Amino acid sequence: SPRVAVLALQGAFAEHEVVLAKLGVRWTELREAGDLRKEFDALILPGGESTVQAKLLEDLGMLAPLKARIEGGMPVLGTCAGAILLAEGIDEGKGSGSCSGGSPRGFATMPIRVRRNAYGRQLGSFRTEGLFACCKNPSKSGKIPMTFVRAPRIEAVGEGVEVLARAHGDIVAVRYGNQMALSFHPELDDDTSVHEVFLSLVR
Ligand code: GLN
Repeated sequence: SPRVAVLALQGAFAEHEVVLAKLGVRWTELREAGDLRKEFDALILPGGESTVQAKLLEDLGMLAPLKARIEGGMPVLGTCAGAILLAEGIDEGKGSGSCSGGSPRGFATMPIRVRRNAYGRQLGSFRTEGLFACCKNPSKSGKIPMTFVRAPRIEAVGEGVEVLARAHGDIVAVRYGNQMALSFHPELDDDTSVHEVFLSLVR
């Protein structure tokens, strides 16, 4: 069975580990460059603060090696801040502490553009339901809960990017080959569909 690495530098990584344990999947944490020597076949990038995560990845010397593995086809799931790390284009949202030197870049391996903190104050955190395209459970007719926490908006998608879900008219889940990016947090709800679909990408 596959082993999934969870980037555990900052943010909501423990919640992903709970889901993986529930699905009976082996997982391991990546906290420093030495952890990259562990065996893993897939990667989860959790929510949190993308600027902090990008800086830590760079400072710890983990950014380039992980980027190479993603570009080499390793399945990766980025949720919220994790989606920002995957995006080639990042618009800084309002009030996101704009250092005009530009935020540290993430992996930038997916042709999508996201706007950080795009949902206003009242909508900063909210729950909704939406159709998830890959949802394999017809009895639920593909509807899954979606929890948004200071979420990025996926504003544009490039060629080859498949839209997996929308909510309130916005694109909220996409797939580009081996890469999945979500603006919401499937690990904060009981429904495991998103993780199951992701795991189906792992051989
Ligand atoms: N607002 C965060 C960022 O811009 C993302 C929030 C989250 O991951 N829940 O990095």
